[in-house]
Formats: sequence, structure tokens, C-alpha cells
Amino acid sequence: PVNIKDVLDPLLISIKSIAQEKQIDLKADIPRDLPSVYANSQALREVLNNLIDNAIKYTPKGGQVRVELGLISIIDQKTYQGILIEDTGYGIPLEDQAHIFDRHYRGIQAEGDISGTGLGLAIVKDLVNQMEGIIEVFSPINAKQKKGTRFMVWLPLSQEGMQGKLI
Ligand code: ATP
Ligand code: MG
Repeated sequence: PVNIKDVLDPLLISIKSIAQEKQIDLKADIPRDLPSVYANSQALREVLNNLIDNAIKYTPKGGQVRVELGLISIIDQKTYQGILIEDTGYGIPLEDQAHIFDRHYRGIQAEGDISGTGLGLAIVKDLVNQMEGIIEVFSPINAKQKKGTRFMVWLPLSQEGMQGKLI
């Protein structure tokens, strides 16, 4: 059983300076008591690092990146804890959304001067699958709307978490 907070807290400290350099306001909403999840700490760190790195990278100066814990959902009769990573960035157009988890795929807006290998989300997807989690992406379909992207990662609660034990 893993406490998501124990993985996220140190990661946020090391990522804070990257956000500051780009004048991005990095906020985390982390409740005190959470149920533990089934996860591999190292894999979870890699997943969160990639998603927060993307959120900062694809959000222009002055924007916001927010991470939230403490969300619970029952999907197909299984209980999951959610991790929300939300930014006020460029958003992901519909035609890109179907491909962003593919190896080496880079979005249209990323082809310009934002560099990368297109591997981050493919690795994220593999790791989330290995942990028997679920990953979802949300972005407004209408580019005229307030843009931005949300990723949700759902991880199954541990036995202790299912029994209502908080850590
Ligand atoms: P790498 O992570 O290897 O440095 P990358 O960031 O391009 O490169 P992925 O992390 O796999 O690769 O992301 C794939 C594509 O998805 C990106 O090229 C970008 O177009 C899009 N994308 C990912 N996260 C976001 C986000 N938060 N906002 C907007 N677009 C995003
Ligand atoms: Mg990336």
C-alpha cells in the first residue's frame, strides 16, 4: 500500500523551481488523511513527474498548474482514488487526443518550439496499466473556450483503504 502524498510531496518540492522559472503558479490541494492505494512508489513518481512536467511545459508563462488529491470514484464496481493534474495551458485538440498516448506522438502545437520525444505519455500509460489504474484526459472541444487540460489518474484502493483506514 502506498500513500500518494508521500510520493507527491517530495516531487512537488523538486519541481517547484521549474515552475517558478517559467512563472507558473504550481498549487497542490492535498488533504491530510487519505486512503492508501495499490501502486509502486517509483512508478507513481514517474507518472506524476511526467504529467506535471507536461502541464508546466504546455502552459504559457503566467499560467497555473494545480494538483489535487482526495477524489474517490467507483468504476466497474472497483474503488479508486483519483489524482487530478490540471493546467491553464494550450489544451489538446480532439485530433491529438486519440494519439497522445502513442509512442513518439507529438501534438500539433508541440511541433513548434516546444521540444520533446513524445514518449512521456506512452510511458505514463504503461505504468498506469501495470498498476491496474486508469488514466483519462479532458480538454475543451471548443478552442475559443477557456483552454487548459486535465489529466485524471485513478489508482485502486488498497485493502486497508477499502476498510476505511486513513493514513
Ligand atoms: P517528452 O515527454 O518525451 O519530453 P512530449 O511532452 O512531446 O515529449 P508526451 O509527454 O508523450 O510527449 O506528450 C505527447 C503530446 O501530448 C505532446 O507533444 C503535447 O502535444 C500533448 N500534451 C501532453 N500534455 C499536455 C498538456 N498538459 N497540455 C497540452 N498538450 C499536452
Ligand atoms: Mg512530455
